[in-house]
Amino acid sequence: MSGLSAPHFHDEEKAYEYVEARLWPEGPVCPHCGGVDRVGKLKGKTTRAGLWKCYQCRKPFTVKIGTIFEDSKVPMRKWLQAMYLIAGSKKGISSNQLHRILGVTLKTAWFMSHRIREAMSGDDGWPLGGLGKTVEADETFIGTEPGREVKKSFYHKMKVLALVERGGRSRAVVVDSLTVPEVQPIMLENISRFSKLRTDEASMYMSIGRFFYDHQSVRHKAGEYGRGDAHTNTIEGYFSIFKRGMKGVYQHCQKKHLHRYVNEFNFRYSHRAALDYNDTGRADAILKGVIGKRLTYQQTGAAA
Ligand SMILES: [Zn+2]
Repeated sequence: MSGLSAPHFHDEEKAYEYVEARLWPEGPVCPHCGGVDRVGKLKGKTTRAGLWKCYQCRKPFTVKIGTIFEDSKVPMRKWLQAMYLIAGSKKGISSNQLHRILGVTLKTAWFMSHRIREAMSGDDGWPLGGLGKTVEADETFIGTEPGREVKKSFYHKMKVLALVERGGRSRAVVVDSLTVPEVQPIMLENISRFSKLRTDEASMYMSIGRFFYDHQSVRHKAGEYGRGDAHTNTIEGYFSIFKRGMKGVYQHCQKKHLHRYVNEFNFRYSHRAALDYNDTGRADAILKGVIGKRLTYQQTGAAA
């Protein structure tokens, strides 16, 4: 049985109920006045799905208000299908493919996928690692920095810094430079100082490493791939999925959008099967992120 056969992917009323149960776990809340007691569901043949009325402030509302779905005419069931597909595609899914599967225009599919990536942004606020835990840090290079001349080195490429806790979650960000002033605050904010840190021999890590419980680096240039637990194999696996997705699925990514794709891969990694998430659990985790993340056409950089 396909994961997409569940009723909330096909029935608009069921789709709203599915979203409401997750965004209003204590029952419906009026987004206009915060009322919870005197609210009622509007029913009737011509009433659109998911419509409620607050009898305290007399205004109608739906669960879409204040979320990435607000102002969108796309049926809720299609949003749920899109989230499920993005949640379940290890290397990502192109707007073109979403457009064909969902039966929406390419422009709509592109907009939906950017909004869904926005719901996948952010984190739980807890630093990675901790006492007895190991965090690997590394960087990868992708595409070309806007306005940079293409050279043989990595200088002209866009840079992504990732931090991965072995057996745990990850964080990744687009950085402008691989320098101590830029990277150190990110690492200190996102990794517990009690962690063991594992990196390659890049000089910035030599300087940053002293803030952590223990720091060991692998000398890749000397042909070394690790001594015991002093390796960065976990993060290399992380980047290999990211790079395969960015090359194979999301070609021609501009720098202004790169952070959104970085968020998407990071989110799936932090909600992967080894951490007890299946496709449905991962899609539900995306759904919890839809609140407070409205994204306008302007912000996504779309041409009107
Ligand atoms: Zn109200």
